[in-house]
Amino acid sequence: MTSDFENSALVLFSGGQDSTTCLAWALDRYKRVETVGFDYGQRHAVELDCRTTIRSNIAPLKEEWKDRLGEDHVLDIKVLGEIGETAMTRDVEITYEETGLPNTFVPGRNLIFFNFAAALAYRRGIKHLVGGMCETDYSGYPDCRDDTLKSLQATLNLGMEMRFVVHTPLMWIDKAETWKMAEELGGGPLISLIIEETHTCYIGDRKTKSEWGYGCGDCPACQLRKNGWNAWNNSS
Ligand code: ZN
Repeated sequence: MTSDFENSALVLFSGGQDSTTCLAWALDRYKRVETVGFDYGQRHAVELDCRTTIRSNIAPLKEEWKDRLGEDHVLDIKVLGEIGETAMTRDVEITYEETGLPNTFVPGRNLIFFNFAAALAYRRGIKHLVGGMCETDYSGYPDCRDDTLKSLQATLNLGMEMRFVVHTPLMWIDKAETWKMAEELGGGPLISLIIEETHTCYIGDRKTKSEWGYGCGDCPACQLRKNGWNAWNNSS
């Protein structure tokens, strides 16, 4: 395989805090970095809108990142919206089901994302697949677990006869440490970019601004982001 293959990464990039931190992580390590986003009929297209702004602002943050950011791909997988009773695609309130999983859960969503990402990476000659899944701030998603993704890596490599490596840089850190990682990677300018341009809120609120960014402040995603920000600031 060529060194271009060895030095290339595809980042699952939603426009949220976690995947933006993962994009910075990849830009710091690989010479060619492409991004992929999924349009699965999410209720709020706001995250997808944020992606473009973040991409054009993140690469200039560091001299060595400038030439590394390559193409962006948005895959339409709206068929996911036909599958579940889910608060991500229908206008219903976020509640918790008997299983303990929030109704924002699209069963196996990350398995589906990684399968599409791997097929795309195969076509693009890319070895490293990067996702922002995390076990620490456990939100009840079994497809975010380390064992699930290790198993998926093996399956993808068997099924496509490839040597993909699945990376999850945030797997064992909490939200406070995610803020810290972003600062280490891109300093104050990356923190500002995350505050101003990334979107995590389940409600899709882009009007309410706090020190940690935009969002309602009450949904589970905002609470994680806010608590992580407070913990990071109190420790540094
Ligand atoms: Zn929110």
